[in-house]
Amino acid sequence: MTQVGGVLIVGSWFLLRYRILTRTRWPRLYSASGSIAIYVLATWLIIPLAASSLGRVALPVFATIDRPVAARSCMYFLCNRHYVDQRLHNVVVDVTQEFSKRHPGFVIIYLDANFPFLDGFPLPPHLSHDDGRKIDFTYCYHQRGFEDVPALSPSPIGYWIYEAPRPNEAAPYRGLRSWLRWDFDFLQGMNREREFDERRTADFLQLLIDRPETEKIILELHLQNRLQLASPKLKFQQLNAARHDDHIHFQIRQMEKQIR
Ligand SMILES: [Zn+2]
Repeated sequence: MTQVGGVLIVGSWFLLRYRILTRTRWPRLYSASGSIAIYVLATWLIIPLAASSLGRVALPVFATIDRPVAARSCMYFLCNRHYVDQRLHNVVVDVTQEFSKRHPGFVIIYLDANFPFLDGFPLPPHLSHDDGRKIDFTYCYHQRGFEDVPALSPSPIGYWIYEAPRPNEAAPYRGLRSWLRWDFDFLQGMNREREFDERRTADFLQLLIDRPETEKIILELHLQNRLQLASPKLKFQQLNAARHDDHIHFQIRQMEKQIR
């Protein structure tokens, strides 16, 4: 779940419990608290430095003027799931700066990106997020009835509350069952005072499509149609894949392909 948490927490627990805190009154309690503190400190200060020397950059947890992009939840930071390679970082910063210029007060929210280290190390459950070139974003939302009041995604983790196909919209897999397409019917009414912002989501997607580095954006077919977007870079998922009408999957090309 965190790539380095097992090594850091278990390693420091053993060190504290059996080497350093052997004579304290509550060695287990102190060792457990100490190892969690070491993990959080490392996640905050050390891992970003180590990752950047190996080519991965941490995205900001909170939006700033320079980088108007934020994590949907601090868990993405605490679990080290907010790293991208330098090229994807530059694309994200450029696109979100342009977006927030056009839509003052609105910032782009990201979800799972990649772990800090090692190409080929997948980020469960997104097996393709393993090389720093992929990131998920939420759609844009506003408060229902107030188009200029920004809102966060209805889902507190950004996933699993869908902008489902309407009865008249093309949806090739409507009603078909697959063990990878989770519907979570009981979640769908949650926080629906936050309304899907079609205009701003389409604008953000168009900015992504226009970047030459963009290789693929996954967006379900009915949303491609509803937002009136067309591009060979837009794909939608097949039946035996996770639903992609709750978030945007974005990926850039590999370096060699871009040069050719
Ligand atoms: Zn993704």
